Amino acid sequence: GWVNFNDFFNHLIDRLEMSKKETITFKRYIPKESFFVDIDEDKITQVLYNIISNATKYSPEGGQITFRVKDEEKSIIISISDEGVGIPKSNLEKIFERFYRVDKARSRNLGGTGLGLAIAKEMIVAHGGKIWAKSVEGKGTTIYFTLPYELEQEDDWS
Ligand code: ATP
Ligand code: MG
Repeated sequence: GWVNFNDFFNHLIDRLEMSKKETITFKRYIPKESFFVDIDEDKITQVLYNIISNATKYSPEGGQITFRVKDEEKSIIISISDEGVGIPKSNLEKIFERFYRVDKARSRNLGGTGLGLAIAKEMIVAHGGKIWAKSVEGKGTTIYFTLPYELEQEDDWS
């Protein structure tokens, strides 16, 4: 159904903020405008949860996680940045493949199966969006995805 994405995103971040590690700080750059997106809320919640749990998992003590929403004409770009270990350039596209994990030794003690981002990609593509990553080793990672939006909410039942 149709939802105001920024309200939806803020509520989700509010909920995670209550249960996050105390040493990690959240920062938001989310505009006041309304961007209406036609989404399966459970699925986009899962996408955001998968991305944010990685950001948390790979963040150092005292790290900041930054949430942004940017208007790109007909689509919004949502991004989640961390100040964690980063991902080598040669692995950046592979992280969206099933069961792919960078440096198994490093990730092993952090847990996980390598499915989180593959699932996120599948769901974003099903919503007509794209997903990609930028990263600098030792500095941090940003995951971006897009969703098409309308400026006015459409009737759900039409
Ligand atoms: P799962 O999500 O199934 O619990 P996972 O987190 O290992 O396991 P993905 O979420 O698909 O799997 O991520 C794939 C790999 O990409 C991770 O194992 C990790 O190596 C790398 N990765 C993903 N996000 C980050 C991040 N924010 N910082 C550093 N590395 C990351
Ligand atoms: Mg994961």
